[in-house]
Amino acid sequence: MQASSETPQLKTAKNDTKHLAFTNSHLTFKQHHMSADYHTHTPLCLHAEGTPQQYIDAAIAAGLTEYGISDHAPVKKSDGTEPFDDWRMLTSQIPEYIQWIADAKAHAADKITVRCGLECDWLPGCENWTEHLRTLHPWDYLIGSVHYITTGSDSSDSSDTWDFDNPAWLGKWAESDVEEAWSLYWQAYTDMADSGLYDVLGHPDLIKKFGYKPEGDLTRYYEPAIDAIATAGTIIEINTAGLHKPCAEMYPDTAFLELARDAGIDLIISSDAHHPSEVARDRNTAIATAKAAGYTHTTLINQGKRSYAPL
Ligand SMILES: [Zn+2]
Ligand SMILES: [Zn+2]
Repeated sequence: MQASSETPQLKTAKNDTKHLAFTNSHLTFKQHHMSADYHTHTPLCLHAEGTPQQYIDAAIAAGLTEYGISDHAPVKKSDGTEPFDDWRMLTSQIPEYIQWIADAKAHAADKITVRCGLECDWLPGCENWTEHLRTLHPWDYLIGSVHYITTGSDSSDSSDTWDFDNPAWLGKWAESDVEEAWSLYWQAYTDMADSGLYDVLGHPDLIKKFGYKPEGDLTRYYEPAIDAIATAGTIIEINTAGLHKPCAEMYPDTAFLELARDAGIDLIISSDAHHPSEVARDRNTAIATAKAAGYTHTTLINQGKRSYAPL
């Protein structure tokens, strides 16, 4: 009897010790190794592959503590119809997207924190639509991205609206005025920052994707955007996907990152994964780059609220 009455106590004590040790090491882990990849995609955008389970398993295997889903948000044409293009979910698929997130959360259980958002396109006149998208779900964050620039003088002529990062239009780059494209891009990026609609601004210098860059010092393009981002208090990302594109550089380049650091702009590190194998890709390279630019912390986002984790 004595033995059996003591055993549970001993067991309990042992378990408690174990639990405390686990809790302590878990807390230490959190304080020193919190890491998130918030810019990732799902097959709903028609150019990504994988299941929620595969993405979550990849995030856990990469040692992340937070995994964020931010697929390409729906956009409607000016006449209210869809599809706008062939690389995003439709408005009618938002419930399917929310289910995808729920499946990811279920699979993640308590092994990793799942956050959710949308990657929204900055387009002329998109403000009301973006505000509407924000109301559709309790997103943790919205990412704002410029994938389209409007060339020519008539902004209502949709043939002049160009998703410049789409490989389908690579030929168009060869015959484009690079300085003009860059000016239009950075004006759009600055307008997007000024809007204050987003928690995070995506891949800051995506315009360099195919390697087309103006000559000389590029800070003339960056400075107005940096001022606008700093004023709006928006987070930027290092997006490592650029390393695997023709430009062979992360977005943004070092000069932009140093200006952002000097302006006190918060930072996250993202993979822009469109496949489970790309989750947290090149993270250590990005961390080294962030540190070299003077960053000491990255940002964690929970329902729009920020906390900071040492790099
Ligand atoms: Zn994409
Ligand atoms: Zn993007």
